[in-house]
Amino acid sequence: MTTPQAKVLVIGAGLAGSEAANLLANHGVKVHLVECKRIKALPSQKDNQFAELVCTNSLKSKNPDSGHGLLKYEMEKLGSIILETAYEHEVPAGDALAVDREKFSSAVTEKLFDNSNIEIHHEEVSNPLAFADIYNCQYIIIASGPLTSEPLQNWMTEYISKEDFYFYDAIAPVVDADSLNEEVLYFKDRHKELKEDSSIIADYLNVPLNKEQYLNFIEELVKAEKVPPKSFEKYQFFEACLPVDLMAERGRDTARFSCMKPIGLEQEDGKIPWACVQLRRENLLGDAYNMVGFQTRLTHKEQVRIFRTLPGFEKAEFIHLGSVHRNSFLNSKKLLNSDLSSKEFPNIFFAGQITGVEGYTESSSMGLYAAVQILQKINKKPALQFPITTGIGALINFIMTVPKPVPSSINFGLLPPILLTKDQRKDRKNRKKVKKALASERARAHFDEFIEVNLKELF
Ligand SMILES: Cc1cc2nc3c(=O)[nH]c(=O)nc-3n(C[C@H](O)[C@H](O)[C@H](O)COP(=O)(O)OP(=O)(O)OC[C@H]3O[C@@H](n4cnc5c(N)ncnc54)[C@H](O)[C@@H]3O)c2cc1C
Repeated sequence: MTTPQAKVLVIGAGLAGSEAANLLANHGVKVHLVECKRIKALPSQKDNQFAELVCTNSLKSKNPDSGHGLLKYEMEKLGSIILETAYEHEVPAGDALAVDREKFSSAVTEKLFDNSNIEIHHEEVSNPLAFADIYNCQYIIIASGPLTSEPLQNWMTEYISKEDFYFYDAIAPVVDADSLNEEVLYFKDRHKELKEDSSIIADYLNVPLNKEQYLNFIEELVKAEKVPPKSFEKYQFFEACLPVDLMAERGRDTARFSCMKPIGLEQEDGKIPWACVQLRRENLLGDAYNMVGFQTRLTHKEQVRIFRTLPGFEKAEFIHLGSVHRNSFLNSKKLLNSDLSSKEFPNIFFAGQITGVEGYTESSSMGLYAAVQILQKINKKPALQFPITTGIGALINFIMTVPKPVPSSINFGLLPPILLTKDQRKDRKNRKKVKKALASERARAHFDEFIEVNLKELF
């Protein structure tokens, strides 16, 4: 299909913006990609490359029968630059797709700079319409992310929605591997059995706690000094990403059934600890570990004091500590059409976390989705309805129908249910697994058919 001459302004070269710019440019559309971080870094940003992974280096599961595995399948079919580059810079992390974050971001940046259909501007956009006018762009994608800079947020508050559209998320600490006493820690993956004579070591280093150590630790978390929210904002966390100190406040066993879960982490002598902190490699060298699920509101001083009470952490040095952060997002159901265009300004599309999805892969997939819908517009074709049995379709359906806007990551609960046969239902042990496998199989078949019918000429 030949794409008529068209220009699109993409605001934000994060995950969604990079996907959208790359997809459009690869289909002959001229893209003006604007990114502000080289002239004004936003909170949590650490380097000046595009597609920065601001917290964990993991793009979650590659397992085909998981929600994230499914999303990856669909994104690859749409030519995802994020996944292609992630696989080029993968580091071991069990069944998760983790990357060397610096190499990954640098490579995405280089690919975008090398694309002759993309013109890059290092500027902060405060008025998208005025910016689009300067470069004569017919369409705009706002992919400015959860940390959308203030002038643009002000514009959106004035022209898109009068209501506030932000809440808070939390970030996990990273510890220097050399500062840990590994003698009391042990490598083991919860879901992967390694042969005894295997030279491969597990991807997770575990910190075992007995009952007394765990209860003391929880008590310290509850008592610790926290960073208070700013006066004009109130904390409203994403349930799947709760700060560990908030879990501790909810009940003394809450963390033990969540990020400190010991299941599958028996030690060499066969004993299962009362609770475990899991550490995941941050890079290929393995010289830094992310404390999995340990996002926290604690002050930095309190984090150092309390985390050093963990076994093996007596002399721990932290590369960065945990923190809370803003997360801007729109009430898409109210403000957007299902192709992610604005009801108020039909030529402005939104993509990424700002649409009300949560997570790296989810945000990236929304960039691909918005770009596909713009290609449809440019080619004078109607908006496409992705089947809700697919990962992308289910995410869109979620943000367009959820009664109260609460961001969600991809999971099979968003897809229509699978009906099991009587025999499958009877098999209590395996029925959950079977359901996931069937949902995944159905999704792939529907996605392939959807592409074949609607987008065959493009992908
Ligand atoms: C602190 C933090 C930690 C997170 N941790 C994780 C995690 O561990 N795992 C996970 O799956 N998800 C995490 N998320 C959620 C989310 O998946 C990521 O933020 C993801 O990067 C969102 O992708 P995006 O493309 O929507 O936005 P981003 O990737 O943030 O991209 C937006 C880009 O727009 C630019 N921009 C903003 N305003 C302007 C402007 N006015 N003009 C020009 N450019 C602008 C920004 O500089 C940025 O580069 C986290 C979010 C935050 C804020």
